[in-house]
Amino acid sequence: MDVSREIEGKQSHDPLFGNWGMSRRSGRCEPVHGPIIVGAGPSGLAVAACLKERGVASVILERSDCIASLWQRKTYDRLRLHLPKQFCELPIMGFPLGSQTYPDKREFVEYLEAYARRFGIRPQFKEAVAAAEHDGALGLWRVRTVGPKEGEEREYVCQWLVVATGENAEAVVPEIEGMEGFGGPIRHTSMYGSGEEFRGKRVLVVGCGNSGMEVCLDLCNHNAMPSLVVRDTVHVLPRDVLGRSTFGLSMWLLKWLPMRLVDRLLLLAARVMLGDTARLGLKRPKLGPLELKCLNGKTPVLDVGTLAKIKSGDVKVYPGIRRLKRHTVEFVDGRIEKFDAIILATGYKSNVPTWLKEGSMFSKDDGFPRRAFPNGWKGERGLYAVGFTKRGILGASMDARRTAEDIERCRK
Ligand SMILES: Cc1cc2nc3c(=O)[nH]c(=O)nc-3n(C[C@H](O)[C@H](O)[C@H](O)COP(=O)(O)OP(=O)(O)OC[C@H]3O[C@@H](n4cnc5c(N)ncnc54)[C@H](O)[C@@H]3O)c2cc1C
Repeated sequence: MDVSREIEGKQSHDPLFGNWGMSRRSGRCEPVHGPIIVGAGPSGLAVAACLKERGVASVILERSDCIASLWQRKTYDRLRLHLPKQFCELPIMGFPLGSQTYPDKREFVEYLEAYARRFGIRPQFKEAVAAAEHDGALGLWRVRTVGPKEGEEREYVCQWLVVATGENAEAVVPEIEGMEGFGGPIRHTSMYGSGEEFRGKRVLVVGCGNSGMEVCLDLCNHNAMPSLVVRDTVHVLPRDVLGRSTFGLSMWLLKWLPMRLVDRLLLLAARVMLGDTARLGLKRPKLGPLELKCLNGKTPVLDVGTLAKIKSGDVKVYPGIRRLKRHTVEFVDGRIEKFDAIILATGYKSNVPTWLKEGSMFSKDDGFPRRAFPNGWKGERGLYAVGFTKRGILGASMDARRTAEDIERCRK
C-alpha cells in the first residue's frame, strides 16, 4: 500500500483529518512508509536491523537523547551483563572478538553503538510517544510524539507499529509510611551511580533482586554500611558452576532433562557452593528457580559476591519495612534501626498503557502482552511487541526476528 498517497487522498477530502495531533512542521500527519518502532533500546535496534536486512526501512522514535538509555543513563557504574555475552547478542552481529564473558556496561553500550552504525540505524531522539491509536477509517496507526520543548508535537501515520519501550520503562517506587519525613536521601537504583557518595553512611537497600544485591556489594566496596530488606522468598544461585555459567549450564541440561530435575541439580549446586541461604534470611521459594521463572517471570539472583558479605556480617538482612521516621526505620519484626540513606531496588514497569490506546494485545494492568511467551509478539492490525518476554535480550532477539519476517511478508 502507498501510505502517503492514501493519506494525501484522505486529507484532501477530510478537513478534520490531522486534528488528533499536529505536526510541528506542517500541521498535518507525516506518513511513514515502513514501520514505526517506539524505543531505541536493544529491542528497537534489533528489530530495525532485522528489517533493514530484509530491505525494509523503519523509523525509530526515542524519548531520550541516546540509544539504550536504560543502560547509558539509568544503571549503576559497576554493572555487567548478568548473563554471558552469547546469551545477550542481538541478531546478525555478535560481540567483537576478545570481549569479556560478562561484558561491562561500557562494552555493552559500545557493542550497541557499533550495531546501530553497521545497520545505519539513526533514531529520532527526544521524541516521546505520547499516544498511538489505530484509525479504523484510515486503516493505519496514528502516532503522536512530544519533544522536550513546549508545543513541540508531531503526528505520524504508519501501517505497522512496533512497541519496543521495554519492561523497564518506568521505575517502581513503593509508598512507605513516613517517606516524606525521612531525613536522608531516598533514591531508586535508576538514580544510583556508585557507593562513593555513601562512604561511611548507613544505607538501607530495599529489594533483593540482582540490582539490590549488587548495590549492597558496591556499597561495601566503598566502605559504606549497607543493610538489605528481604521481604519475599528468593532464589540465589552461583553465577558460575564448575567454570561454566549457571545460565548456560541450565540451558544445556534442559535439552536432556525435565525442568524439575534441572532445578534440583541447580539447588544442589547452590547448596554446596553457597550453603543454606535461609539461615542468612534469604528463604527459597517452594518452586525451583527455572520453574518459577517460567511461571511468573521472577528471575533468580546470580550471586557475584554479595552472599559472602552477608555471611561476614558486612551486609545485614532485615524483613519488610513498617514505617520510616526522620532518622530511623521500623521493620515488621519490631526492630528499629538508624539509617542515613535508602536505595530502592524495587524494579521497573512497562509504560505501554499510558500511551498505547489499544485494548486487546497489551494488558492494562501490567503493560505486557496478554499472550504468554513465545506468542506475545504479534497483535492485530500491524501491531507488534518486541522485548516483553521476561527473557532479556535473548527473548527480544527472538521477537525481533519474527516481527521483521512478518512485516516483510505483509509487505509482499
Ligand atoms: C540493571 C539491569 C541489568 C540487566 N542485565 C541484563 C542482562 O545481563 N542480560 C539481559 O538479557 N537482560 C538484562 N537486563 C534486562 C534489560 O533491561 C533488557 O534485556 C534490555 O535492556 C531490554 O531492552 P529493551 O530495548 O526491550 O528495553 P530498554 O533497554 O528499556 O529500552 C527501551 C527504550 O524505549 C524508550 N522509551 C520508553 N518509552 C518511550 C516512549 N513513550 N516514547 C519513546 N521512547 C520510549 C526508552 O527511553 C528506552 O530507550 C537488565 C536490566 C537491568 C535493569
